[in-house]
Amino acid sequence: MPYDPSSAIQDYTVFGEFGDVNPSVTDSSTYTFLSPERMEELFDHEIEGCFLYSRHWNPINKYLSGALARLENSENALVTASGMAAISSVILQICEAGDEIVASRTIYGGTYALLKNFLPKLGITTRFVDIKDLQAMREAITPRTKVLYCESISNPMLEVADIPAISELAKAQDLKLVIDNTFSPLVIAPLQLGADVVVHSLTKFINGTSDCVAGCVCSSKAFIDSMLDINAGASMLLGPVLDSYRAASILKNLHSLHIRMQKHGENALYFAEQFEKLGFSVYYPGLPSHPQHALAQKIMTPGFGHSGMLAIDFGSLDKANQLMTMMQEDKVGYLAVSLGYFKTLFSSPGHSTSSEIPKEEQEQIGLSDGLVRMSVGLDNDIRRSFERVKDCLVKLGMTGK
Ligand code: PLP
Repeated sequence: MPYDPSSAIQDYTVFGEFGDVNPSVTDSSTYTFLSPERMEELFDHEIEGCFLYSRHWNPINKYLSGALARLENSENALVTASGMAAISSVILQICEAGDEIVASRTIYGGTYALLKNFLPKLGITTRFVDIKDLQAMREAITPRTKVLYCESISNPMLEVADIPAISELAKAQDLKLVIDNTFSPLVIAPLQLGADVVVHSLTKFINGTSDCVAGCVCSSKAFIDSMLDINAGASMLLGPVLDSYRAASILKNLHSLHIRMQKHGENALYFAEQFEKLGFSVYYPGLPSHPQHALAQKIMTPGFGHSGMLAIDFGSLDKANQLMTMMQEDKVGYLAVSLGYFKTLFSSPGHSTSSEIPKEEQEQIGLSDGLVRMSVGLDNDIRRSFERVKDCLVKLGMTGK
């Protein structure tokens, strides 16, 4: 059946026990059995509707995982305690000592540090490439490569991955294509475009209220089962379990994701167009000037915009810092990392969320000192918000030209 995101949204509705409109949260780490034989049976075989121990599964995490599987149209999903927990367990599930990863050179700083600094301690190494250059990707693959890794829209450069082309490369060499879709839930459906595994930081758009940290993995039933294997599953054995109460609050927020993504996209497009009109260099896939705008049009799911993230080059760190400080004072939004909140958030990635990437590599990917990353909020009157931005620019004497 073809993937229809609007039906996926309808499908978020789940029935609660005892008729609650929201599923009840079970406040238990362990579950009772009527017979020892049944307990033994359940220990290594999942039985629909039965629970043994909360690190394996619990009812609310199952509900949330089911909703996320429908969001990404995957056979199954698994929620985790953070986006980094999802990413690290997926990689540790697939790779062993001696294996290699080919990853995009523009990815979230924490993921970059995991691949560059941490995983080599376990004998897993990464080659970072410009994923716009498919030939470079092809050349980076060796007989030890197991994973191709990138973000569907990259943090912080807003580069759009050509998932269909990269997936062809992965399939031809029998590699797993792992895509971080944190910047573009509903906007891009990586599994429909050929990816094998999708990871999310639920901390961002999917939860949308910046009140918790969480993550998820969406993939085939076989892959999720392997992550939960009691003898060898990365998720089972490393134990990055999401707390039940948080799973319940994320599930409730998920119901409004489709409306929020539309509004984030509409508002971000307005900011992007206005900054560009003022003559600043703007990175936003919804702008015709974005180098992968045509690709974005081709692979994005119609009706959900181009995501709420943009980056603007203000020329120098000093100017960027002055503007961010004033925008916070003048109530445009908050000087804060993270994204997907209902208020606009802005930060300087080179000096925060991408500071793990060495300076010379930042320069190669175009991450300048004056770059500001913005997660545009759900403001009802985005024109008035941009007037406030313009006032700040005028007070600071900043012009784009
Ligand atoms: N992936 C992306 C694209 C991110 O931006 C982040 C965090 O900023 C993460 C993953 C990590 O997520 P978490 O902070 O939930 O571990």
